[in-house]
Amino acid sequence: MDDDSGDSRMKGLCILGATGSIGVSTLDVVARHPDKYKVIALTANSNIGVLLEQCKQFLPEVVVIVDALKAAEFQPLLQAAGLASIKVLSGTEALQQVATLPNVDSVMAAIVGAAGLLPTLAAAKAGKTILLANKEALVMSGALFMQAVAESGAHLLPIDSEHNAIFQCMPSGYTAGHRAKQARRILLTASGGPFRCMPLEQLPDVTPAQAVAHPNWDMGRKISVDSATMMNKGLELIEACWLFDVPADVIEVVIHPQSVIHSMVDYVDGSVLAQMGNPDMRTPIAHALAWPERFDSGVPPLNIFDVGRMDFERPDLERFPCLRLAYEAITAGGIMPTVLNAANEIAVDAFLNEQIRFTDIPVVIERCLQKFVAGEASSLDVVLATDLQAREISHEIIKTLRH
Ligand code: NAD
Ligand code: MG
Repeated sequence: MDDDSGDSRMKGLCILGATGSIGVSTLDVVARHPDKYKVIALTANSNIGVLLEQCKQFLPEVVVIVDALKAAEFQPLLQAAGLASIKVLSGTEALQQVATLPNVDSVMAAIVGAAGLLPTLAAAKAGKTILLANKEALVMSGALFMQAVAESGAHLLPIDSEHNAIFQCMPSGYTAGHRAKQARRILLTASGGPFRCMPLEQLPDVTPAQAVAHPNWDMGRKISVDSATMMNKGLELIEACWLFDVPADVIEVVIHPQSVIHSMVDYVDGSVLAQMGNPDMRTPIAHALAWPERFDSGVPPLNIFDVGRMDFERPDLERFPCLRLAYEAITAGGIMPTVLNAANEIAVDAFLNEQIRFTDIPVVIERCLQKFVAGEASSLDVVLATDLQAREISHEIIKTLRH
């Protein structure tokens, strides 16, 4: 039975990136709580097969398929399934439209990469509750994004497991952007990815298939490569600076290969609070969906006897130069994180398409960063123009590296 402190009204949910790893996990949790959430809108880039099954199960009012040809293909499929009442939109602007619908209370931002920025920012400006998985949006435009959240009174709840853990280790009543004043350090945990122990001389020959096979987490391809280079932790470092309003030197990255502790907060009195759990994204997703309450996520209980031991190491910046580059970019500030993110997206794509080696990824990013000076990210136009320019420069750098 519901307690009487919560809002008993069903909340309207929009999932940006419904067909991806986070989107699918979100719907898995939502399906366990049909009395809490009504799915209003689902979006996909092009995966209409998965989207059709989701439509049959969750009966959204509207879907967005960014790819117009796929959207045209989708309409008859809906009709054949007796779901012609579901509205189908296409194009990138439709993403912003559905993220700001009046009957949408919460927006799961789970598009991968820079494509998520505009719809997520639109949701922030509209004062929605934002469940933020799309860390690239915050890395690209942290100051503008946090400003939009503050001005509209939106709630920003972190889905990234580490940030969700930090959020849970903060005092209750804490809201994103207001740091817990008595916290002296944030310990951001990292698994170290699949290549933590691989001899350094073998790294140049790593294949995309090896890089996307993460030891502990089952994720989309881009974030899996980011985890292998540890750029994921670099992006998360920047994400944490914005979410918790701290400078980068307050955050320490800790390699913890078992991925049981999802991050820690070290307080001035010597207390270190950690959030633990099985490595399954349904836990942070359920935490944010139920917040400030809690509900079942479908994740089995953590068996600490099976875990047995937990190890901690400092990251090796020679092995993981992407982490160093992220520290440098956020310390330089301004547009540099925007450049870092854009160059990384292009470099990861080139690696996945076998145009460059695994070890070329940080080379592309570093050379691209060197082409910029840290101007202020003063407006969305500046951010978007910088993003575009950094992508073009990265493509040029890749041409010189192709093997
Ligand atoms: P994914 O590749 O599995 O899914 C991406 C989703 O975005 C898909 O629905 C796809 O249709 C959509 N999409 C892709 N390109 C698009 C575009 N150009 N326009 C519109 N939609 C587009 O990715 P994922 O692993 O679910 O990750 C999503 C986001 O969540 C990323 O920012 C990632 O860093 C973050 N995240 C993921 C995990 C995880 O466990 N998967 C954990 C923490 C954070
Ligand atoms: Mg994470």
